[in-house]
Amino acid sequence: MSLIKSINARRVWDSRGNPTVEVDVILENGVLGRAIAPAGASRGTREAIDLRDGGPKLRGKDIQNALASVNGPIASALRGMDASDQAEVDAAILALDASALKETLGGNATVATSLAVLHAAATDARKPLWRHVADHYNCTPSLPLPEIQIFGGGAHAGRRVDIQDFMVVVPGAFSFDEVMEITSEIYFAAGDIMAQRGKLAGVADEGGWWPMFDSNEEALETLVAAIEKAGETPGKNVAISLDIAASEFGSNGKYRLALEDREMDSGALIDMLGRWMDAYPILSIEDPVGEDDRDGMIEFTRRFGDHVQIIGDDYLVTNANLVKEASSDAACNAVLIKVNQAGTVSESVETFMAAQAAGWGAIVSARSGESEDTSISHLSTGLGGGQLKVGSFQRSERMVKWNECLRIQDELGAHSFVGGAPFKGTWWDRA
Ligand code: PEP
Ligand code: MG
Repeated sequence: MSLIKSINARRVWDSRGNPTVEVDVILENGVLGRAIAPAGASRGTREAIDLRDGGPKLRGKDIQNALASVNGPIASALRGMDASDQAEVDAAILALDASALKETLGGNATVATSLAVLHAAATDARKPLWRHVADHYNCTPSLPLPEIQIFGGGAHAGRRVDIQDFMVVVPGAFSFDEVMEITSEIYFAAGDIMAQRGKLAGVADEGGWWPMFDSNEEALETLVAAIEKAGETPGKNVAISLDIAASEFGSNGKYRLALEDREMDSGALIDMLGRWMDAYPILSIEDPVGEDDRDGMIEFTRRFGDHVQIIGDDYLVTNANLVKEASSDAACNAVLIKVNQAGTVSESVETFMAAQAAGWGAIVSARSGESEDTSISHLSTGLGGGQLKVGSFQRSERMVKWNECLRIQDELGAHSFVGGAPFKGTWWDRA
């Protein structure tokens, strides 16, 4: 048992150049655990709040108040606690903040502290983080199946296209390493096609190509062309995954695709996505309707839930109660796990477990604002059986997480790769 001796927060900078919280947890035996809070751009309204200072300095984004939360009340409450008791530590953090969305302490303060404690406990146990997570939560570790962005859109690319993430999954791959190789070929094939057609504007927030498409569907056509140019058969080894992030372009059942100057209600949006799923090999679709569109999500799941993965992100905000509620509604069949939406490791793992109990998939995810922190590579491996969403195949804050999985692959063995298992029962499995 190693007790927490001190906790110290510092200001560091994320992949968008915004200030963020880094926390060092030091145990009495000198062991250090360190983690950095990520930050989302397309945020659910029910996720934990990032505490930012406001005012003119740093565009209101400074985090001195969040640093004060860690260095003050959180450090005082956690000093002397057993770092290996993650549930107790997280309960102590929660006891300091009675607000619904952690607006008192700041979700950025709580998540960096909670993850830093997890790192300290793993190092103290002389285990890699993934192993510590697996042992601590009694899970069978496995390397996740990545979903990797090829084009960015929505809030991550100046809203140049309405849909936020155009991604590929490689459920037919035999190893994590093979996923990286195939995705690299597709990513650069896509870049070449876009450059030839005059559609390439640069690189978006998560490393995907910043597109200049004339319609959202043009992205799907280009993605299929890129998969073929890379020598793969769309729908066989490689399939498409979309994050519609519909809350970014609609509410109250009304949606507006700005690129195409089209307005539609929930039913028309669902029909459009249905047509896309008929025409393109789409295996997974995230937030197909807005976070407030419960009827739409139930209808979407009723129509398509038996053959594609339907992920709730803004819709479920890594909240175990919302997962349970959606499961009894038969809305969604998978959940995105973003540790900073919940605000602590324990709440995130609880949500992961609620998804497993519901027979759902779970996709551990980065945020669009990231750093060199690789905690999520370990979390998804340690919890096992799942998928990992990190962004694209460029920019170091993304590649550091894929590369960490390759190191874990060497420790755990290539056979531990989950492969297409998350897509059992979908059209891909039946094909
Ligand atoms: C997402 O919506 O899945 C995402 C990663 O974006 P952000 O971090 O901006 O919420
Ligand atoms: Mg999302």
